[in-house]
Parts: sequence; structure tokens; C-alpha cells
Amino acid sequence: MTSLINSLQQIAEENLLELEQAKAEGRSAIGFYCLYSPMEIALAAGAIPLPLCGTRNEPVAAAEEFLPRNLCPLIKSSFGFAVSDTCPFFRYSDIIIGDTTCDGKKKMFELLNRYKPTYVLQLPQNQDDPRALALWRSELERFKAIVEKQTGTEITDERLRRAIRLMNRLRAMRKAVMDLNKKQPAPLSGSVLLELLTKIGFLADKEKAINLMERVVAEACAGAFSVSGGQDRKRRRILLTGVPVGVGSDKVVKIVEQSGADVVAFENCSGYKKIFSISEDKDPLDALAEQYLAIPCSVMSPNPGRFTLLEEMIREFQVDGVIDLTWQACHTYNIEAFLVNEFVTQTFNFPALHLETDYAESDTEQLRVRIEAYLEML
Ligand code: SF4
Ligand code: SF4
Repeated sequence: MTSLINSLQQIAEENLLELEQAKAEGRSAIGFYCLYSPMEIALAAGAIPLPLCGTRNEPVAAAEEFLPRNLCPLIKSSFGFAVSDTCPFFRYSDIIIGDTTCDGKKKMFELLNRYKPTYVLQLPQNQDDPRALALWRSELERFKAIVEKQTGTEITDERLRRAIRLMNRLRAMRKAVMDLNKKQPAPLSGSVLLELLTKIGFLADKEKAINLMERVVAEACAGAFSVSGGQDRKRRRILLTGVPVGVGSDKVVKIVEQSGADVVAFENCSGYKKIFSISEDKDPLDALAEQYLAIPCSVMSPNPGRFTLLEEMIREFQVDGVIDLTWQACHTYNIEAFLVNEFVTQTFNFPALHLETDYAESDTEQLRVRIEAYLEML
């Protein structure tokens, strides 16, 4: 595992050099903040899709010079990285794509536009109404036109289909990596899994990302990874749901591990929410619109898909408990926490633990007390 993490570090450094080279050769790069915007549209035009940084606490202070303090740390971190020019992926991006997911994000994008041209897709917040799908498809059409203008490349259906096939393979491999932890005991600790997925997610060369994940799965199947917690099968298996987490915003994952349990599965948009397959036969824009609109994030109202996914994951990963994480000032996840706890309690006979926090370390000990008490109770 150490050799894999080391080679990942080296690949991440090479990735930055390759990006610099690609930019010098005139290739466009498009920055993305949210799962709802299809990267396929950028790939189809030969542009580089770049996920943007937003999981660390360090840039929050810079953001608070512009944004209110009582705002979701993910939004402040994203904005702070941009204004402090500390995210290389933001620097390399020619344009930024955002979505009207939550109030904080869409208002932040208005300010972000001062630093980079920022295009905001009007995301409908209901998945059942056919008018919502029609609106979302038309937004993707607009996004496609923006990318065509930026890159000077016409995005044909064939190009889009090729991009869909590539991203389907990438998503299938992400799933294969995450599914390694269906095994008991889980071969990958939650923090290692997060680090792997985060670093691989930043790779501009998607084929390289797929190859790396194939290597992770092959090595795991050959028994190369030492099992987190040794062979102690009594470690509680926890599923983490709620807001996205990443390297730098993973304190809850670490506290769970320090408390003698494992986060074996991530339902959030850093994890399983990202795992879907897009039809390769339909009209490609229809297929993208349908599948992306169906992502079960709490910004949708109602959001039934989250409960279907939770039920499936709790059963498949055979977890003992569910921790539902909300970033401070994230109203959608905070309110949905009531329904999550009700659903988990009624369906599985154990409660979920709802935690509300931010990226800072100041409440670590309070969180530890609550997590230990929850694990004790399971
Ligand atoms: S939690 Fe929802 S709104 Fe936030 S990044 Fe993920 S998919 Fe987008
Ligand atoms: S965590 Fe909540 S408040 Fe923060 S960006 Fe995502 S949906 Fe918005």
C-alpha cells in the first residue's frame, strides 16, 4: 500500500507537469465544482476537465474576507483557494462551470466570476417533473455551446458517445475500488480509500486513472494490502453519508478509525453517488441529462434516490452503523438528516449518528465523545 501511495504522489506531480505542458500547447481546461455538471461535455471537445480544490481548511480565512463566516466550509474553501491562487487546477482552468445547487454556492459563483469566467448551469431541484428534465437538457445544450466556443471544436454525437464510454469505464473502476471494502475485514481503511480516490480524481489523463485503479484492484485481490485494524473482525463497519469529504476534510473518518472502527463505505458525492452508468445507445445529451439529474443529492426536493442508495449500500457493505455528516450552514443536508435517521432506524433497527461540523479541528474532542458513544451503542 505504501508503494502505491508513493507512486500516486509521483503520478500527481507528473499530472501537474503534464497539465502545464498541455496548457502551453493551447489545450483548454475547464474547472468543475459539482457532480451535476457532466465532465463528458468537456472531454468530448478535447478539453481537460479539472475537479477544483475545496476540501481544506487553510484557504477559509482568505475567503472570509469576502464571504460570511457562517457559510458552508466547502464553499469558503473553494472560494479561498481561488482568491489566494493556491489551487493549481483553478489556475489552469480557462473557464469554470458551476450549478445552482444551493444558495451559498450560486451566490459565491457571482463573486468567483471576477477571477475566472464562471458559467452557472440552472439545475432544476426536482427529478420527477418532465419540465425539469427538459430544462436540464437545455442547460446541457447551453453548456455544450460554451465549451464549443471555448475550444473551437464541434461536439458531435460521436464525440460525446466516446466521452460517455470513457467516463463509464472510469466510474466502473471507481466502483470496483470502493467495492473491495465489501470484503470483511475491509482491505482499505476509509482514509486510505479517500486519499486514493481524491488523488486519482485529479488526474487529467482518464486512461491513466483507469489503469491505476485496475492496479489497485489487482493488488488488493492478490492480498497485497494489509487489512486496516489487522485481522480484528470485531471492528464496527461504518457507512458515511451526507456532505462530500476529501483529503483535509476527513477528520470524522480519522476519529472513527482512532476509535477502533472502520469507515468502509462512502455514500456521499465523493463516493458512491458518483457511480452511475450512462446509456451508450440513446441520444447522448438525453442520456447525460437523465442520469445527471437523477443524482440523489440533498439539493433535490424531494430526494428519494438517497434512501434507495442508502438501503442498497447498508445491505451490500453489511455495515453496523451510519454516520450522517453535515457541514455547518448546509441547510439541505441538515434538514434531510431527520429523514435519514428515521429511515435508517425504521429499516435497520439502529439509529444514524448525525454530526454537524466544519473543517476546523476545534471540535475534534466533542466529536470523538459522540462517535465513541455511538460505536459503543451499536
Ligand atoms: S453535495 Fe451535492 S451540491 Fe454539493 S458537490 Fe456534491 S452533488 Fe454537488
Ligand atoms: S455541502 Fe451543502 S451548503 Fe455546502 S456546497 Fe454542498 S449543498 Fe451547498
